[in-house]
Amino acid sequence: MVSTVIPVQPFDLVIFGATGDLAHRKILPSLYRRLSVHQMPQEARIIGAARSKMSRAEFRKSVQGALEEFVEPGDLSKERVEAFLATLDYVTIDAAGDGGWAQLARKLDEKPDHIRAFYLSVAPSLFGTIAGRLTEAGITTPSSRIVVEKPLGQDLASARALNAQLSRHFGEHQIYRIDHYLGKETVQNLMAIRFANALFEPLWNSRYVEHVQITVAETVGVAGRGAYYDGSGAMRDMVQNHIMQLLCLTAMEPPAKFDPDAVRDEKLKVIRALDPLMISDTVRGQYRANGKDGSYLDHVGNPASRTESFVAIRAHVSNWRWAGTPFYLRTGKKLAARLSEIVVTFKHPPHTIFPQVEAQKGNALIIRLQPDEGITMRVTIKEPGPGGMRLVEVPLDMTFADALGEEGAMPEAYERLIMDVIRGDQTLFMRGDEVEAAWAWTDPIIQFWKESGSRPLAYDSGGAGPIEAYKLTSADGHLWREIVA
Ligand code: NAP
Repeated sequence: MVSTVIPVQPFDLVIFGATGDLAHRKILPSLYRRLSVHQMPQEARIIGAARSKMSRAEFRKSVQGALEEFVEPGDLSKERVEAFLATLDYVTIDAAGDGGWAQLARKLDEKPDHIRAFYLSVAPSLFGTIAGRLTEAGITTPSSRIVVEKPLGQDLASARALNAQLSRHFGEHQIYRIDHYLGKETVQNLMAIRFANALFEPLWNSRYVEHVQITVAETVGVAGRGAYYDGSGAMRDMVQNHIMQLLCLTAMEPPAKFDPDAVRDEKLKVIRALDPLMISDTVRGQYRANGKDGSYLDHVGNPASRTESFVAIRAHVSNWRWAGTPFYLRTGKKLAARLSEIVVTFKHPPHTIFPQVEAQKGNALIIRLQPDEGITMRVTIKEPGPGGMRLVEVPLDMTFADALGEEGAMPEAYERLIMDVIRGDQTLFMRGDEVEAAWAWTDPIIQFWKESGSRPLAYDSGGAGPIEAYKLTSADGHLWREIVA
């Protein structure tokens, strides 16, 4: 199946922090791929901005290096790389200083018809300053867009302050808050599966769904970014944003139409329907050292740290659709496999006509975000062959790369999201009130952990987190799905 590529309008994208890690690893390679498939028009311009003094040629050289490092060799062609580098320009700007803004304004004025977007790939402490400078320098237009990403605050108060700084200079319809999980093909497919098929929606409620599990597991520890992570922890780094977004898309009501505010209104209602988190519904952990590698405390260089590298939660969405169906959420570092998935487990049939057969696990819809994005339905069938009625559970598997074929049919999350910014489509971006509502849900428990003085539970690397996490599900007669790649 060949994916359809619809070119976007000519645009100017200014990347603040264009010399940084995110720009080199994700943003610029994603733009290169979009140019390669002719979605990004050749007239588009990408203007890097950072404090480093460098010429346009030096910037192009550094981006060429980034492409060679972060784009699959098979996707690189000399001709396309040259075409991409030709779109690049650079301005030296210190967000906090006066130099460079007039030069940037002049460059942008050369193409008044281009859509203007500003990607702030810099520390959030600079968001307000840059937004202010852009408007003071007369660089923004009513249709300009500004793109920011996590961390969008450390708590409700700081998220509110950040939203207030941005909204002083940009309307909400101009602000694109990236959560790259929302750009994943499978996440959007979750909406397609739910709302474009008659099959699942009638069953998508507490009458038929036994429980839902959302797991984001990583095999890596925090070595290398220990200082940042220790000030954050799994709850802030993963639950408040990515996991809650997945929860919202799984639990939300069908929006009246596929329009940014209709979808985001429904997601917000899910967050507001969450019961306040009880301490007894949470388990937090820290990985311990194993023979080969140090512990969390070693990696952050802080023996007294109480920051969690693992968290498991039992959440309840108290509305007509979901009352009685637990949503189990967990995420952690140094676990058995790297995987992100949503598992919707359905109830058993009300009556079994196969009493001789051992209890089955039940139907489940497994939505895999990584690795190998795809969807699997677990169904029970008769084991082939004579000798009585034996049942087996088999997966009906749809790995998108297999089903949809051809290389390039599965754009990276950033590719889709950046093109959505240019198209002016905010459906897959978080609205300010959603971000604040998510912090309002996670804040009390983070505060409780801080004030209680209790320590996270130690867990072994390569497993599934502290044993206590199992008790969250087993208390309800459920089991976590194994963490296997
Ligand atoms: P980074 O590697 O430290 O890069 C920061 C960039 O900001 C550099 O280009 C730096 O260039 C520029 N910069 C710093 N101070 C500046 C100033 N006063 N004026 C203008 N430019 C300035 O950081 P990063 O990893 O790319 O992350 C950027 C943002 O994305 C952060 O908010 C981070 O939390 C977020 N984020 C990153 C990732 C990731 O995978 N890296 C993932 C999600 C979110 P100069 O030193 O030349 O000025």
